Amino acid sequence: MSRDLRITRLTVREYEWKMPDLGVDYNGFNTVFERGSTARQTGHVLTVETAAGITGEYAGGTSVSYAQLGMVAGYLIGKDALARELIWNDLKRALRKHDRFGMGPIDIALWDIAGKAYGAPVYELLGGFRTRLPAYASTYHGDENGGLSSPEAFADFAVQCRDMGYPAFKIHGWGHGPIEREAAAVLATRQAVGPEMDLMIDPACEYDTFADALKVGRACDEAGYFWYEDPYKDGGVSSFAHRKLRQLIRTPLLLGEHVRGLEPHVDQIVADGTDYVRADADYDGGITGVMKLAHAAEGFGLDCEIHAPGPAHRHCMAAVRNTNYYELGLVAPGLDPKRVHCPLYADDFADDLDSVDGDGCVPVPQGPGLGVTLNWDWIRAHETSAVVYD
Ligand SMILES: [Mg+2]
Repeated sequence: MSRDLRITRLTVREYEWKMPDLGVDYNGFNTVFERGSTARQTGHVLTVETAAGITGEYAGGTSVSYAQLGMVAGYLIGKDALARELIWNDLKRALRKHDRFGMGPIDIALWDIAGKAYGAPVYELLGGFRTRLPAYASTYHGDENGGLSSPEAFADFAVQCRDMGYPAFKIHGWGHGPIEREAAAVLATRQAVGPEMDLMIDPACEYDTFADALKVGRACDEAGYFWYEDPYKDGGVSSFAHRKLRQLIRTPLLLGEHVRGLEPHVDQIVADGTDYVRADADYDGGITGVMKLAHAAEGFGLDCEIHAPGPAHRHCMAAVRNTNYYELGLVAPGLDPKRVHCPLYADDFADDLDSVDGDGCVPVPQGPGLGVTLNWDWIRAHETSAVVYD
């Protein structure tokens, strides 16, 4: 290829929008259903421009990611955008004192450039395995506001999702209050949907004690859960604790969402700290990082489950054999998904409750790069700041 793909400019745009009928939970950390309330959300779009005029675009990342981008932008200007592996390794070293969140958005934007340069969707460059992705409905956290406020509410919503075609459903429970309510939601949901649907629960590291984690784990055993994710307040990082938990329950554990990068994930596998391996392009060094994790897990004979929805994750999942479900969320009953999830993309992409087909699958974007069209009119209308590096 003769085109000059040296990086010439990076721009981070921040935008803000309001989501109706959502509020926050008891400590303000979880977004939950609350009729009549409005949740203010912030998002980011990174663009990476090249000398040849091909621009990589990625909508995602956090303010932490982009603080780290500022630390490495000078290094990136002038680099060959196709030298992803070199850039990935240099940034890994440069950001070693931090959580390396800055690597993800950059790497994803570079894959978008590569796809556009080669005229192919990213998943084909990675190695295509599938073009339809079975999804699970991943709920908002339990609330006290008449939405997902009881075990029966989770059970009813799981039935609704099953009837829409979803093959799997994941509970994000309340995380506080009586642990018996969490266990009751596990059992009531299985009771309601019958034996076929795969069920998961993700307390998102919120149970106070190992004993509480064990109680809910035993309910998962009784109800035949597919996985039990990040149970309690070790923060999802203690391999020793989860090895002990694995000795006491039968339900497979999914840990690793809060273990950063390739080597610590492998250490967690070797220490028997998890059954499924978690990967996230925003958290683990982009598409390059997710693929390294997926292949590392493959070498151990394990499955790699990709966290959260989005175009980059659809491409990764489409190129990985050893994986099961696309996380479609967050979702809750009684919300208008079209109003909650902002119109970030043109009509070619959405991660709404009703984005699945009758078999509960979502498609893989087929256009070059990430294969999605950003809704720039909407982004510009909601932009609150822009930072340019050139
Ligand atoms: Mg999780």
